[in-house]
Amino acid sequence: MFSEEFVSEVKDKNEIENVVSFYVNLVRKGRVFSGLCPFHAEKTPSFFVYPESHSFYCFGCGSGGDVITFIMLIEKFDYVESVSFLAEKAGLNLPQKTEASFSVKKKLFMKSIGKAQNFFTGNYLTLMGNLRLIIF
Ligand SMILES: [Zn+2]
Repeated sequence: MFSEEFVSEVKDKNEIENVVSFYVNLVRKGRVFSGLCPFHAEKTPSFFVYPESHSFYCFGCGSGGDVITFIMLIEKFDYVESVSFLAEKAGLNLPQKTEASFSVKKKLFMKSIGKAQNFFTGNYLTLMGNLRLIIF
């Protein structure tokens, strides 16, 4: 559904450490960031984010991947939803204005509204703007 160019643009516009830090309290340690893993219960951080390779890995539970995988895991999205979510967040237009992409957008939109408090503050304002457009 998405071209490789589009997916890499989505990744470029969403620095993994920025995206993860909305969910995890990250501490910088040299060239990596660490924090408590959001995917399993732990008291000492074994979750690491590697900005240079745009990836994350947890030594406790083995979760790992790129920013798209992270959003899939933490938001329980499928691949298309995750890419759409990150594209929206970066202000990129989804390549196809299909019925499918509309329903993904709608789903993401409703989900985002529900999570607005602990969600991206910047996006929240945009979402409220969109909401007004839909209501009026
Ligand atoms: Zn873990």
